[in-house]
Amino acid sequence: MENQIKKIAVLTSGGDAPGMNAAIRSVVRSCAYYNIECVGVYRGYQGMIEGDFKEMGARSVGNIINKGGTILKSARSLEFMTKEGRQKAYDYLKKEGIDAFVVIGGDGSFTGALVFNQEFNFPVMGIPGTIDNDIFGTNYTLGYDTALNTVVEVIDKIRDTASSHNRLFFVEVMGRDVGHIALNAGVGAGAEEILIPEENLGLDRLIESLKKSKKSGKSSSIVVVAEGDKIGKNVFELAEYVEENFPFYEVRVSVLGHMQRGGTPSCFDRVLASRMGVKVVESLIEGKSNLMVGVIDNKMVLTELDKAIKGKSKINRELLKVSDIMTT
Ligand code: ATP
Repeated sequence: MENQIKKIAVLTSGGDAPGMNAAIRSVVRSCAYYNIECVGVYRGYQGMIEGDFKEMGARSVGNIINKGGTILKSARSLEFMTKEGRQKAYDYLKKEGIDAFVVIGGDGSFTGALVFNQEFNFPVMGIPGTIDNDIFGTNYTLGYDTALNTVVEVIDKIRDTASSHNRLFFVEVMGRDVGHIALNAGVGAGAEEILIPEENLGLDRLIESLKKSKKSGKSSSIVVVAEGDKIGKNVFELAEYVEENFPFYEVRVSVLGHMQRGGTPSCFDRVLASRMGVKVVESLIEGKSNLMVGVIDNKMVLTELDKAIKGKSKINRELLKVSDIMTT
C-alpha cells in the first residue's frame, strides 16, 4: 500500500519535560529519512489553532538533543477544548497540507488528540513526555529519568546540611497522583521514609519510624514526600506535626518545585526520545493512528491512546520493601 502520509506536524503540549527536544529532533529527522515533510507547531494546540507553524528540515534540529525544555514551546489551550477551536486547528492543518500530527505530552494532550481524531478522522500519534511517569503503556515517560537524577542530586546536597546540623528534612518532590519520582529518588538518595499517594503510611507510623531510626543511632534523616501524598494536608503541616510530636530533630522543609522539570536530559531520556520518534513516524507510514509509543521491557510498543489515558501506571511495590530494608 502506498504511503498516504506526506506531511507530518509535531508539537509539544502540557507541562514541559527534559527529552522533548530530543523527541522533536527524532520526529523531524525520521521524516527527513523517509522523505516526508515535517512541520513544527509552536505553543502546543494553541499554536495549531493560530496556524503558528514552521517547516522543519533535518538541519533545523541541530544542537538541541542536549537541551531541556522544548524549542517549540508548550502551552495549555482552553480554546482547543472547544469544537470551534479544534475546527480552526483542522482548517490550518488542511491549508498546510498536513496529513497527521504527533503530540509530545501527557494524558491531557492525548485526550485532545483523540477528540480531534474522532471529530475529523485525522491521524494522530502520541509520545509520552512528562516527568511524572504516570502514563499507562510505557515503563518510562520522557523526562522521568532526568527528573530522578535531578532530585537525587539535590537530596545529596540536602543530606550534607542535614547531617551537619542533626536535622530532619522533609523534601517535597513532584507527583500529584503517583509516587514514582518520590519512591525511586527516595531509594536512590537513601531516604528514611518515602511518602507517596499510593500508600497512606499514617502519621503515627511515620513518628514510630522516625523514633526507630533515632534509636538506631541516626543523627539526621531525610523524608521524601510526593506532592500528592495524603498524610498531611501539605508538607509544611506535616513537618509541623512531626516537630510537635517528635522534638528530637530540628525540622526543615524543602520543596523542590519546577527545578525538577528543567535541565539537560539524561542519556537514557535522549535515547528513549530518539527511539520513540522513529517508531511514531514509521507507524504513521504504516497507516496506524490513535496510538501512543512506549517502551516495555526495553521493546518499543504501541498502546491505544484511550487505554493510555484511562489506564494507570503502577508503582513498583518491590521498591517499598527495599526502602524498608535499607532503613534498618
Ligand atoms: P501534564 O502531564 O504536564 O499535565 P498534559 O498533556 O496532561 O501534561 P494538560 O494541560 O492536561 O497537560 O493538557 C494539555 C492540553 O491538551 C490542554 O491545554 C488542552 O489544550 C488539551 N486537552 C486536554 N484535555 C482535552 C479535552 N478533553 N479536549 C480537548 N483538548 C484537551
